[in-house]
Amino acid sequence: MKFMPREVLPPAVRDQAPPMLELVNVCKRFGQAQARTVALSGVNLRIAKSEFVTLIGPSGCGKSTLFQMIAGLLPPDDDGSLLFGGVPQRDGQLLGKVSFMPQRDLLFPWRTVLDNAILALEVEGVPRKQASERARAMLPEFGLAGFANHYPHQLSGGMRQRVALMRTFLFERDLMLLDEPFGALDALTRSRMQHWLLDIWARHWRTVLFITHDIDEAIVLGDRVLVMSARPGTVKSATVIDLPRPRDPSVVLTPGFIRLKQHLLAEIEEESRKTFAQEGAVS
Ligand code: ADP
Ligand code: MG
Repeated sequence: MKFMPREVLPPAVRDQAPPMLELVNVCKRFGQAQARTVALSGVNLRIAKSEFVTLIGPSGCGKSTLFQMIAGLLPPDDDGSLLFGGVPQRDGQLLGKVSFMPQRDLLFPWRTVLDNAILALEVEGVPRKQASERARAMLPEFGLAGFANHYPHQLSGGMRQRVALMRTFLFERDLMLLDEPFGALDALTRSRMQHWLLDIWARHWRTVLFITHDIDEAIVLGDRVLVMSARPGTVKSATVIDLPRPRDPSVVLTPGFIRLKQHLLAEIEEESRKTFAQEGAVS
């Protein structure tokens, strides 16, 4: 597969253009009084077009909540704002503007691979025949040729993830949100899927925001890695991953990779300790 270089704007130019997505002081509280959980507090974030940004942080720090807000499924609290292409978004306006793969793969067991893949298009009103043709043409690229009429229970975990990813790609939006898409896979399959995703990404030029709890995965994939703090979640740091692309699986053995990993491990370790202390205080 041939790698096509992306158009990478110099940071100075990129920072002047309105970012594809901008979050300003985004907060989210759940519940009332004593039962109140402050999930997110003061999240500030800018994502440029065609960037691949990975987001890592301790469990429960609000990563999935953040994605639900960016997808337009959950309104942020009044304190903050969410801008898309420089335009502030009000309640419900973001719905349908981004493609979103939630943390669980959500394939319907009674629908075939093809019917699962076209679900978002059908909901959008694309005629079934047209949607099926588009999905069929994409099957080989997603390693699913010959599986159009299979049901989810007949597939391996990696294949199910690819069906869910294909559904997300078919719903063509400039911004893709992927919430731990490879979380349930063994290490080897996971590494293959990561490089396969990088290949696809380089050909489709989408902007990707990707949640993971795996530091290696965050570095291998990302142009930048954002580390989130323990709850209340906020973006604690952004690290530019200057490793050249295309990235080979052996990139994890290079001194540059190991330096980045050491730095990120220290940041995440600090947040994990806080999460542990929070949980300890509750029990
Ligand atoms: P992460 O994806 O980082 O593991 P989540 O975004 O799923 O974290 O959750 C962040 C916090 O918000 C958790 O404490 C969780 O229990 C709480 N939370 C998430 N959704 C809701 C909800 N709908 N109602 C109440 N609390 C919620
Ligand atoms: Mg989550």
